[in-house]
Amino acid sequence: MRVHYNYLPQEFRDIDPIIIDWRELAASSEFTLGRYVEAFEEKFAKAVGAKHCIAVNNGTDALILSLKAADIGVGDEVITVTNTFYATVGAIVAVGATPILIDCDSRYQIDPSRIEDAITPKTKAVIPVHWGGASPEMDKITAICQSHNLIVIEDACMGIGASINGKSPGTFGLVNAYSMHPLKSLNAMGDGGVVATNNDELAIWMRKYRNHGMVDRNHIEFWGVNLRMQPLQCIVLSHGLDRLQSTIEQRNRNALILDAGLSQINGVTVPERLNGYTETFALYMVLCERRDQLISYLHNNEIEAKIHYPLALHQQEAAKSGCKFDPNALPVATYQADHLITLPVHQFLDETHMNYMVEKIKAFYEHS
Ligand SMILES: *Cc1c(COP(=O)(O)O)cnc(C)c1O
Repeated sequence: MRVHYNYLPQEFRDIDPIIIDWRELAASSEFTLGRYVEAFEEKFAKAVGAKHCIAVNNGTDALILSLKAADIGVGDEVITVTNTFYATVGAIVAVGATPILIDCDSRYQIDPSRIEDAITPKTKAVIPVHWGGASPEMDKITAICQSHNLIVIEDACMGIGASINGKSPGTFGLVNAYSMHPLKSLNAMGDGGVVATNNDELAIWMRKYRNHGMVDRNHIEFWGVNLRMQPLQCIVLSHGLDRLQSTIEQRNRNALILDAGLSQINGVTVPERLNGYTETFALYMVLCERRDQLISYLHNNEIEAKIHYPLALHQQEAAKSGCKFDPNALPVATYQADHLITLPVHQFLDETHMNYMVEKIKAFYEHS
């Protein structure tokens, strides 16, 4: 049995409904902004429970736009976690601010108890990341930020379809970013991103900034850029939103089977699942002894396991300049980088695949 990591061929097996809408789009020639973009923005806003959603090119642009809207730039420090995707930190650097990297907890999420130590007079914001599609403890983080007058900008790129006591990632911070990259829980046929906010003024500013600072064809109010999402992708994503709920449900069913099976195995550590938190399982991750040997063994058994990532950001060449951290204060993320594996749990797999993976991992620890 082969357990594939990539589910995109199946996700986009039947694109007839998309093509019907694309034909309509072609006839309308509304190729920049317009009704297809607005329809997706409204549908997405409703799905996550945000007042305003602004569709942009990708998740990285969504982070950059969020930081810009929060007026973060040169001279400002932004606290985030060292085990995230490159773009969280790249976006902070792109607006001229300094990322401050702190450690994560045993659930691979930013550790709220590390935030206060990292605050300086220059600190302006914290970016909690919904890493892997699980969520950090947002109640603790927002309380700390409130008491220190810091802005919260969520990196909810992997969190579409997750919830914390009924509330979606990307609805806790001032301005928040999502990604619709093909390997997130809601997939474009290419790139896509969204910024969400409940702040009317920031929403108006971001809509203008996304479109050159234009108020109308002949007038600009300030210097902006072009971050517009393609209407073609808005159509793909509007259809994708209809499947989101069932996608998340199937991934959770799969993850539950793995959690139960893997937690019985000596050598594997399954993270705690918090009550009231629903995860997207963009990444299903566990910690494993003899990780690199295990990965080869799984690959030999046609299980497409991955590592996200073998290096935390503070271990990257890029981290030698432009960001700040105390290398001795990041033991958890450093340990996890050496022990994490990511197993496929996507919506086109079922209990047969899950049981097969549990059996193989059990065999690895029992016989080798
Ligand atoms: C994917 C991702 C991004 C970047 O999104 P893109 O759409 O690929 O630009 C940023 N942060 C996190 C945590 C991500 O998973």
